[in-house]
Amino acid sequence: MTKKGHRKTGVGLALCGASVALSFGYSKNSVLAIAVIAMVSSSLPDDLECKWWMRGQRHSLIPHRTVTHWLAPWGCIAAWMIWDTLHRHLVNPYANVVILGIAFGCIGHILMDWMTPMGVPILSPFYRSSLRLFQSGNSAVETSVAGLTAIAGLFCLFFVAQLLSP
Ligand SMILES: [Zn+2]
Repeated sequence: MTKKGHRKTGVGLALCGASVALSFGYSKNSVLAIAVIAMVSSSLPDDLECKWWMRGQRHSLIPHRTVTHWLAPWGCIAAWMIWDTLHRHLVNPYANVVILGIAFGCIGHILMDWMTPMGVPILSPFYRSSLRLFQSGNSAVETSVAGLTAIAGLFCLFFVAQLLSP
């Protein structure tokens, strides 16, 4: 998916992340911060590759869609932050919110790249998996996917808020 596509889908995915944080007891301010940080981090896995273009060819310090796009570690980081919040152990609460927001932004990015033919590493960094749902770079498709993620994010947030309301 293109950087623009990740920015567009980042909004809906940030809402999904906010719903998860809300369901695990994060405060409303924390949930808002997590959503904003997740949105800002929605292109981080590509940015961490330190890419540059030379004579029309893409180069990067870290090969494209390898360790920075590995879902398992980002999922473990998110789970660790949620566990930490539930049990109040090691991590400073402000750092927890920032780290969880970044993890959610990266997880959303990776899930979107998973749908394209090139795929991403899910459990092992050595094997990529792909859902082959759409081609990267098609603006109309990426906008449609962004619309669907926004609807899903709003639905999740509404659903969780309804569950938690007295
Ligand atoms: Zn990517």
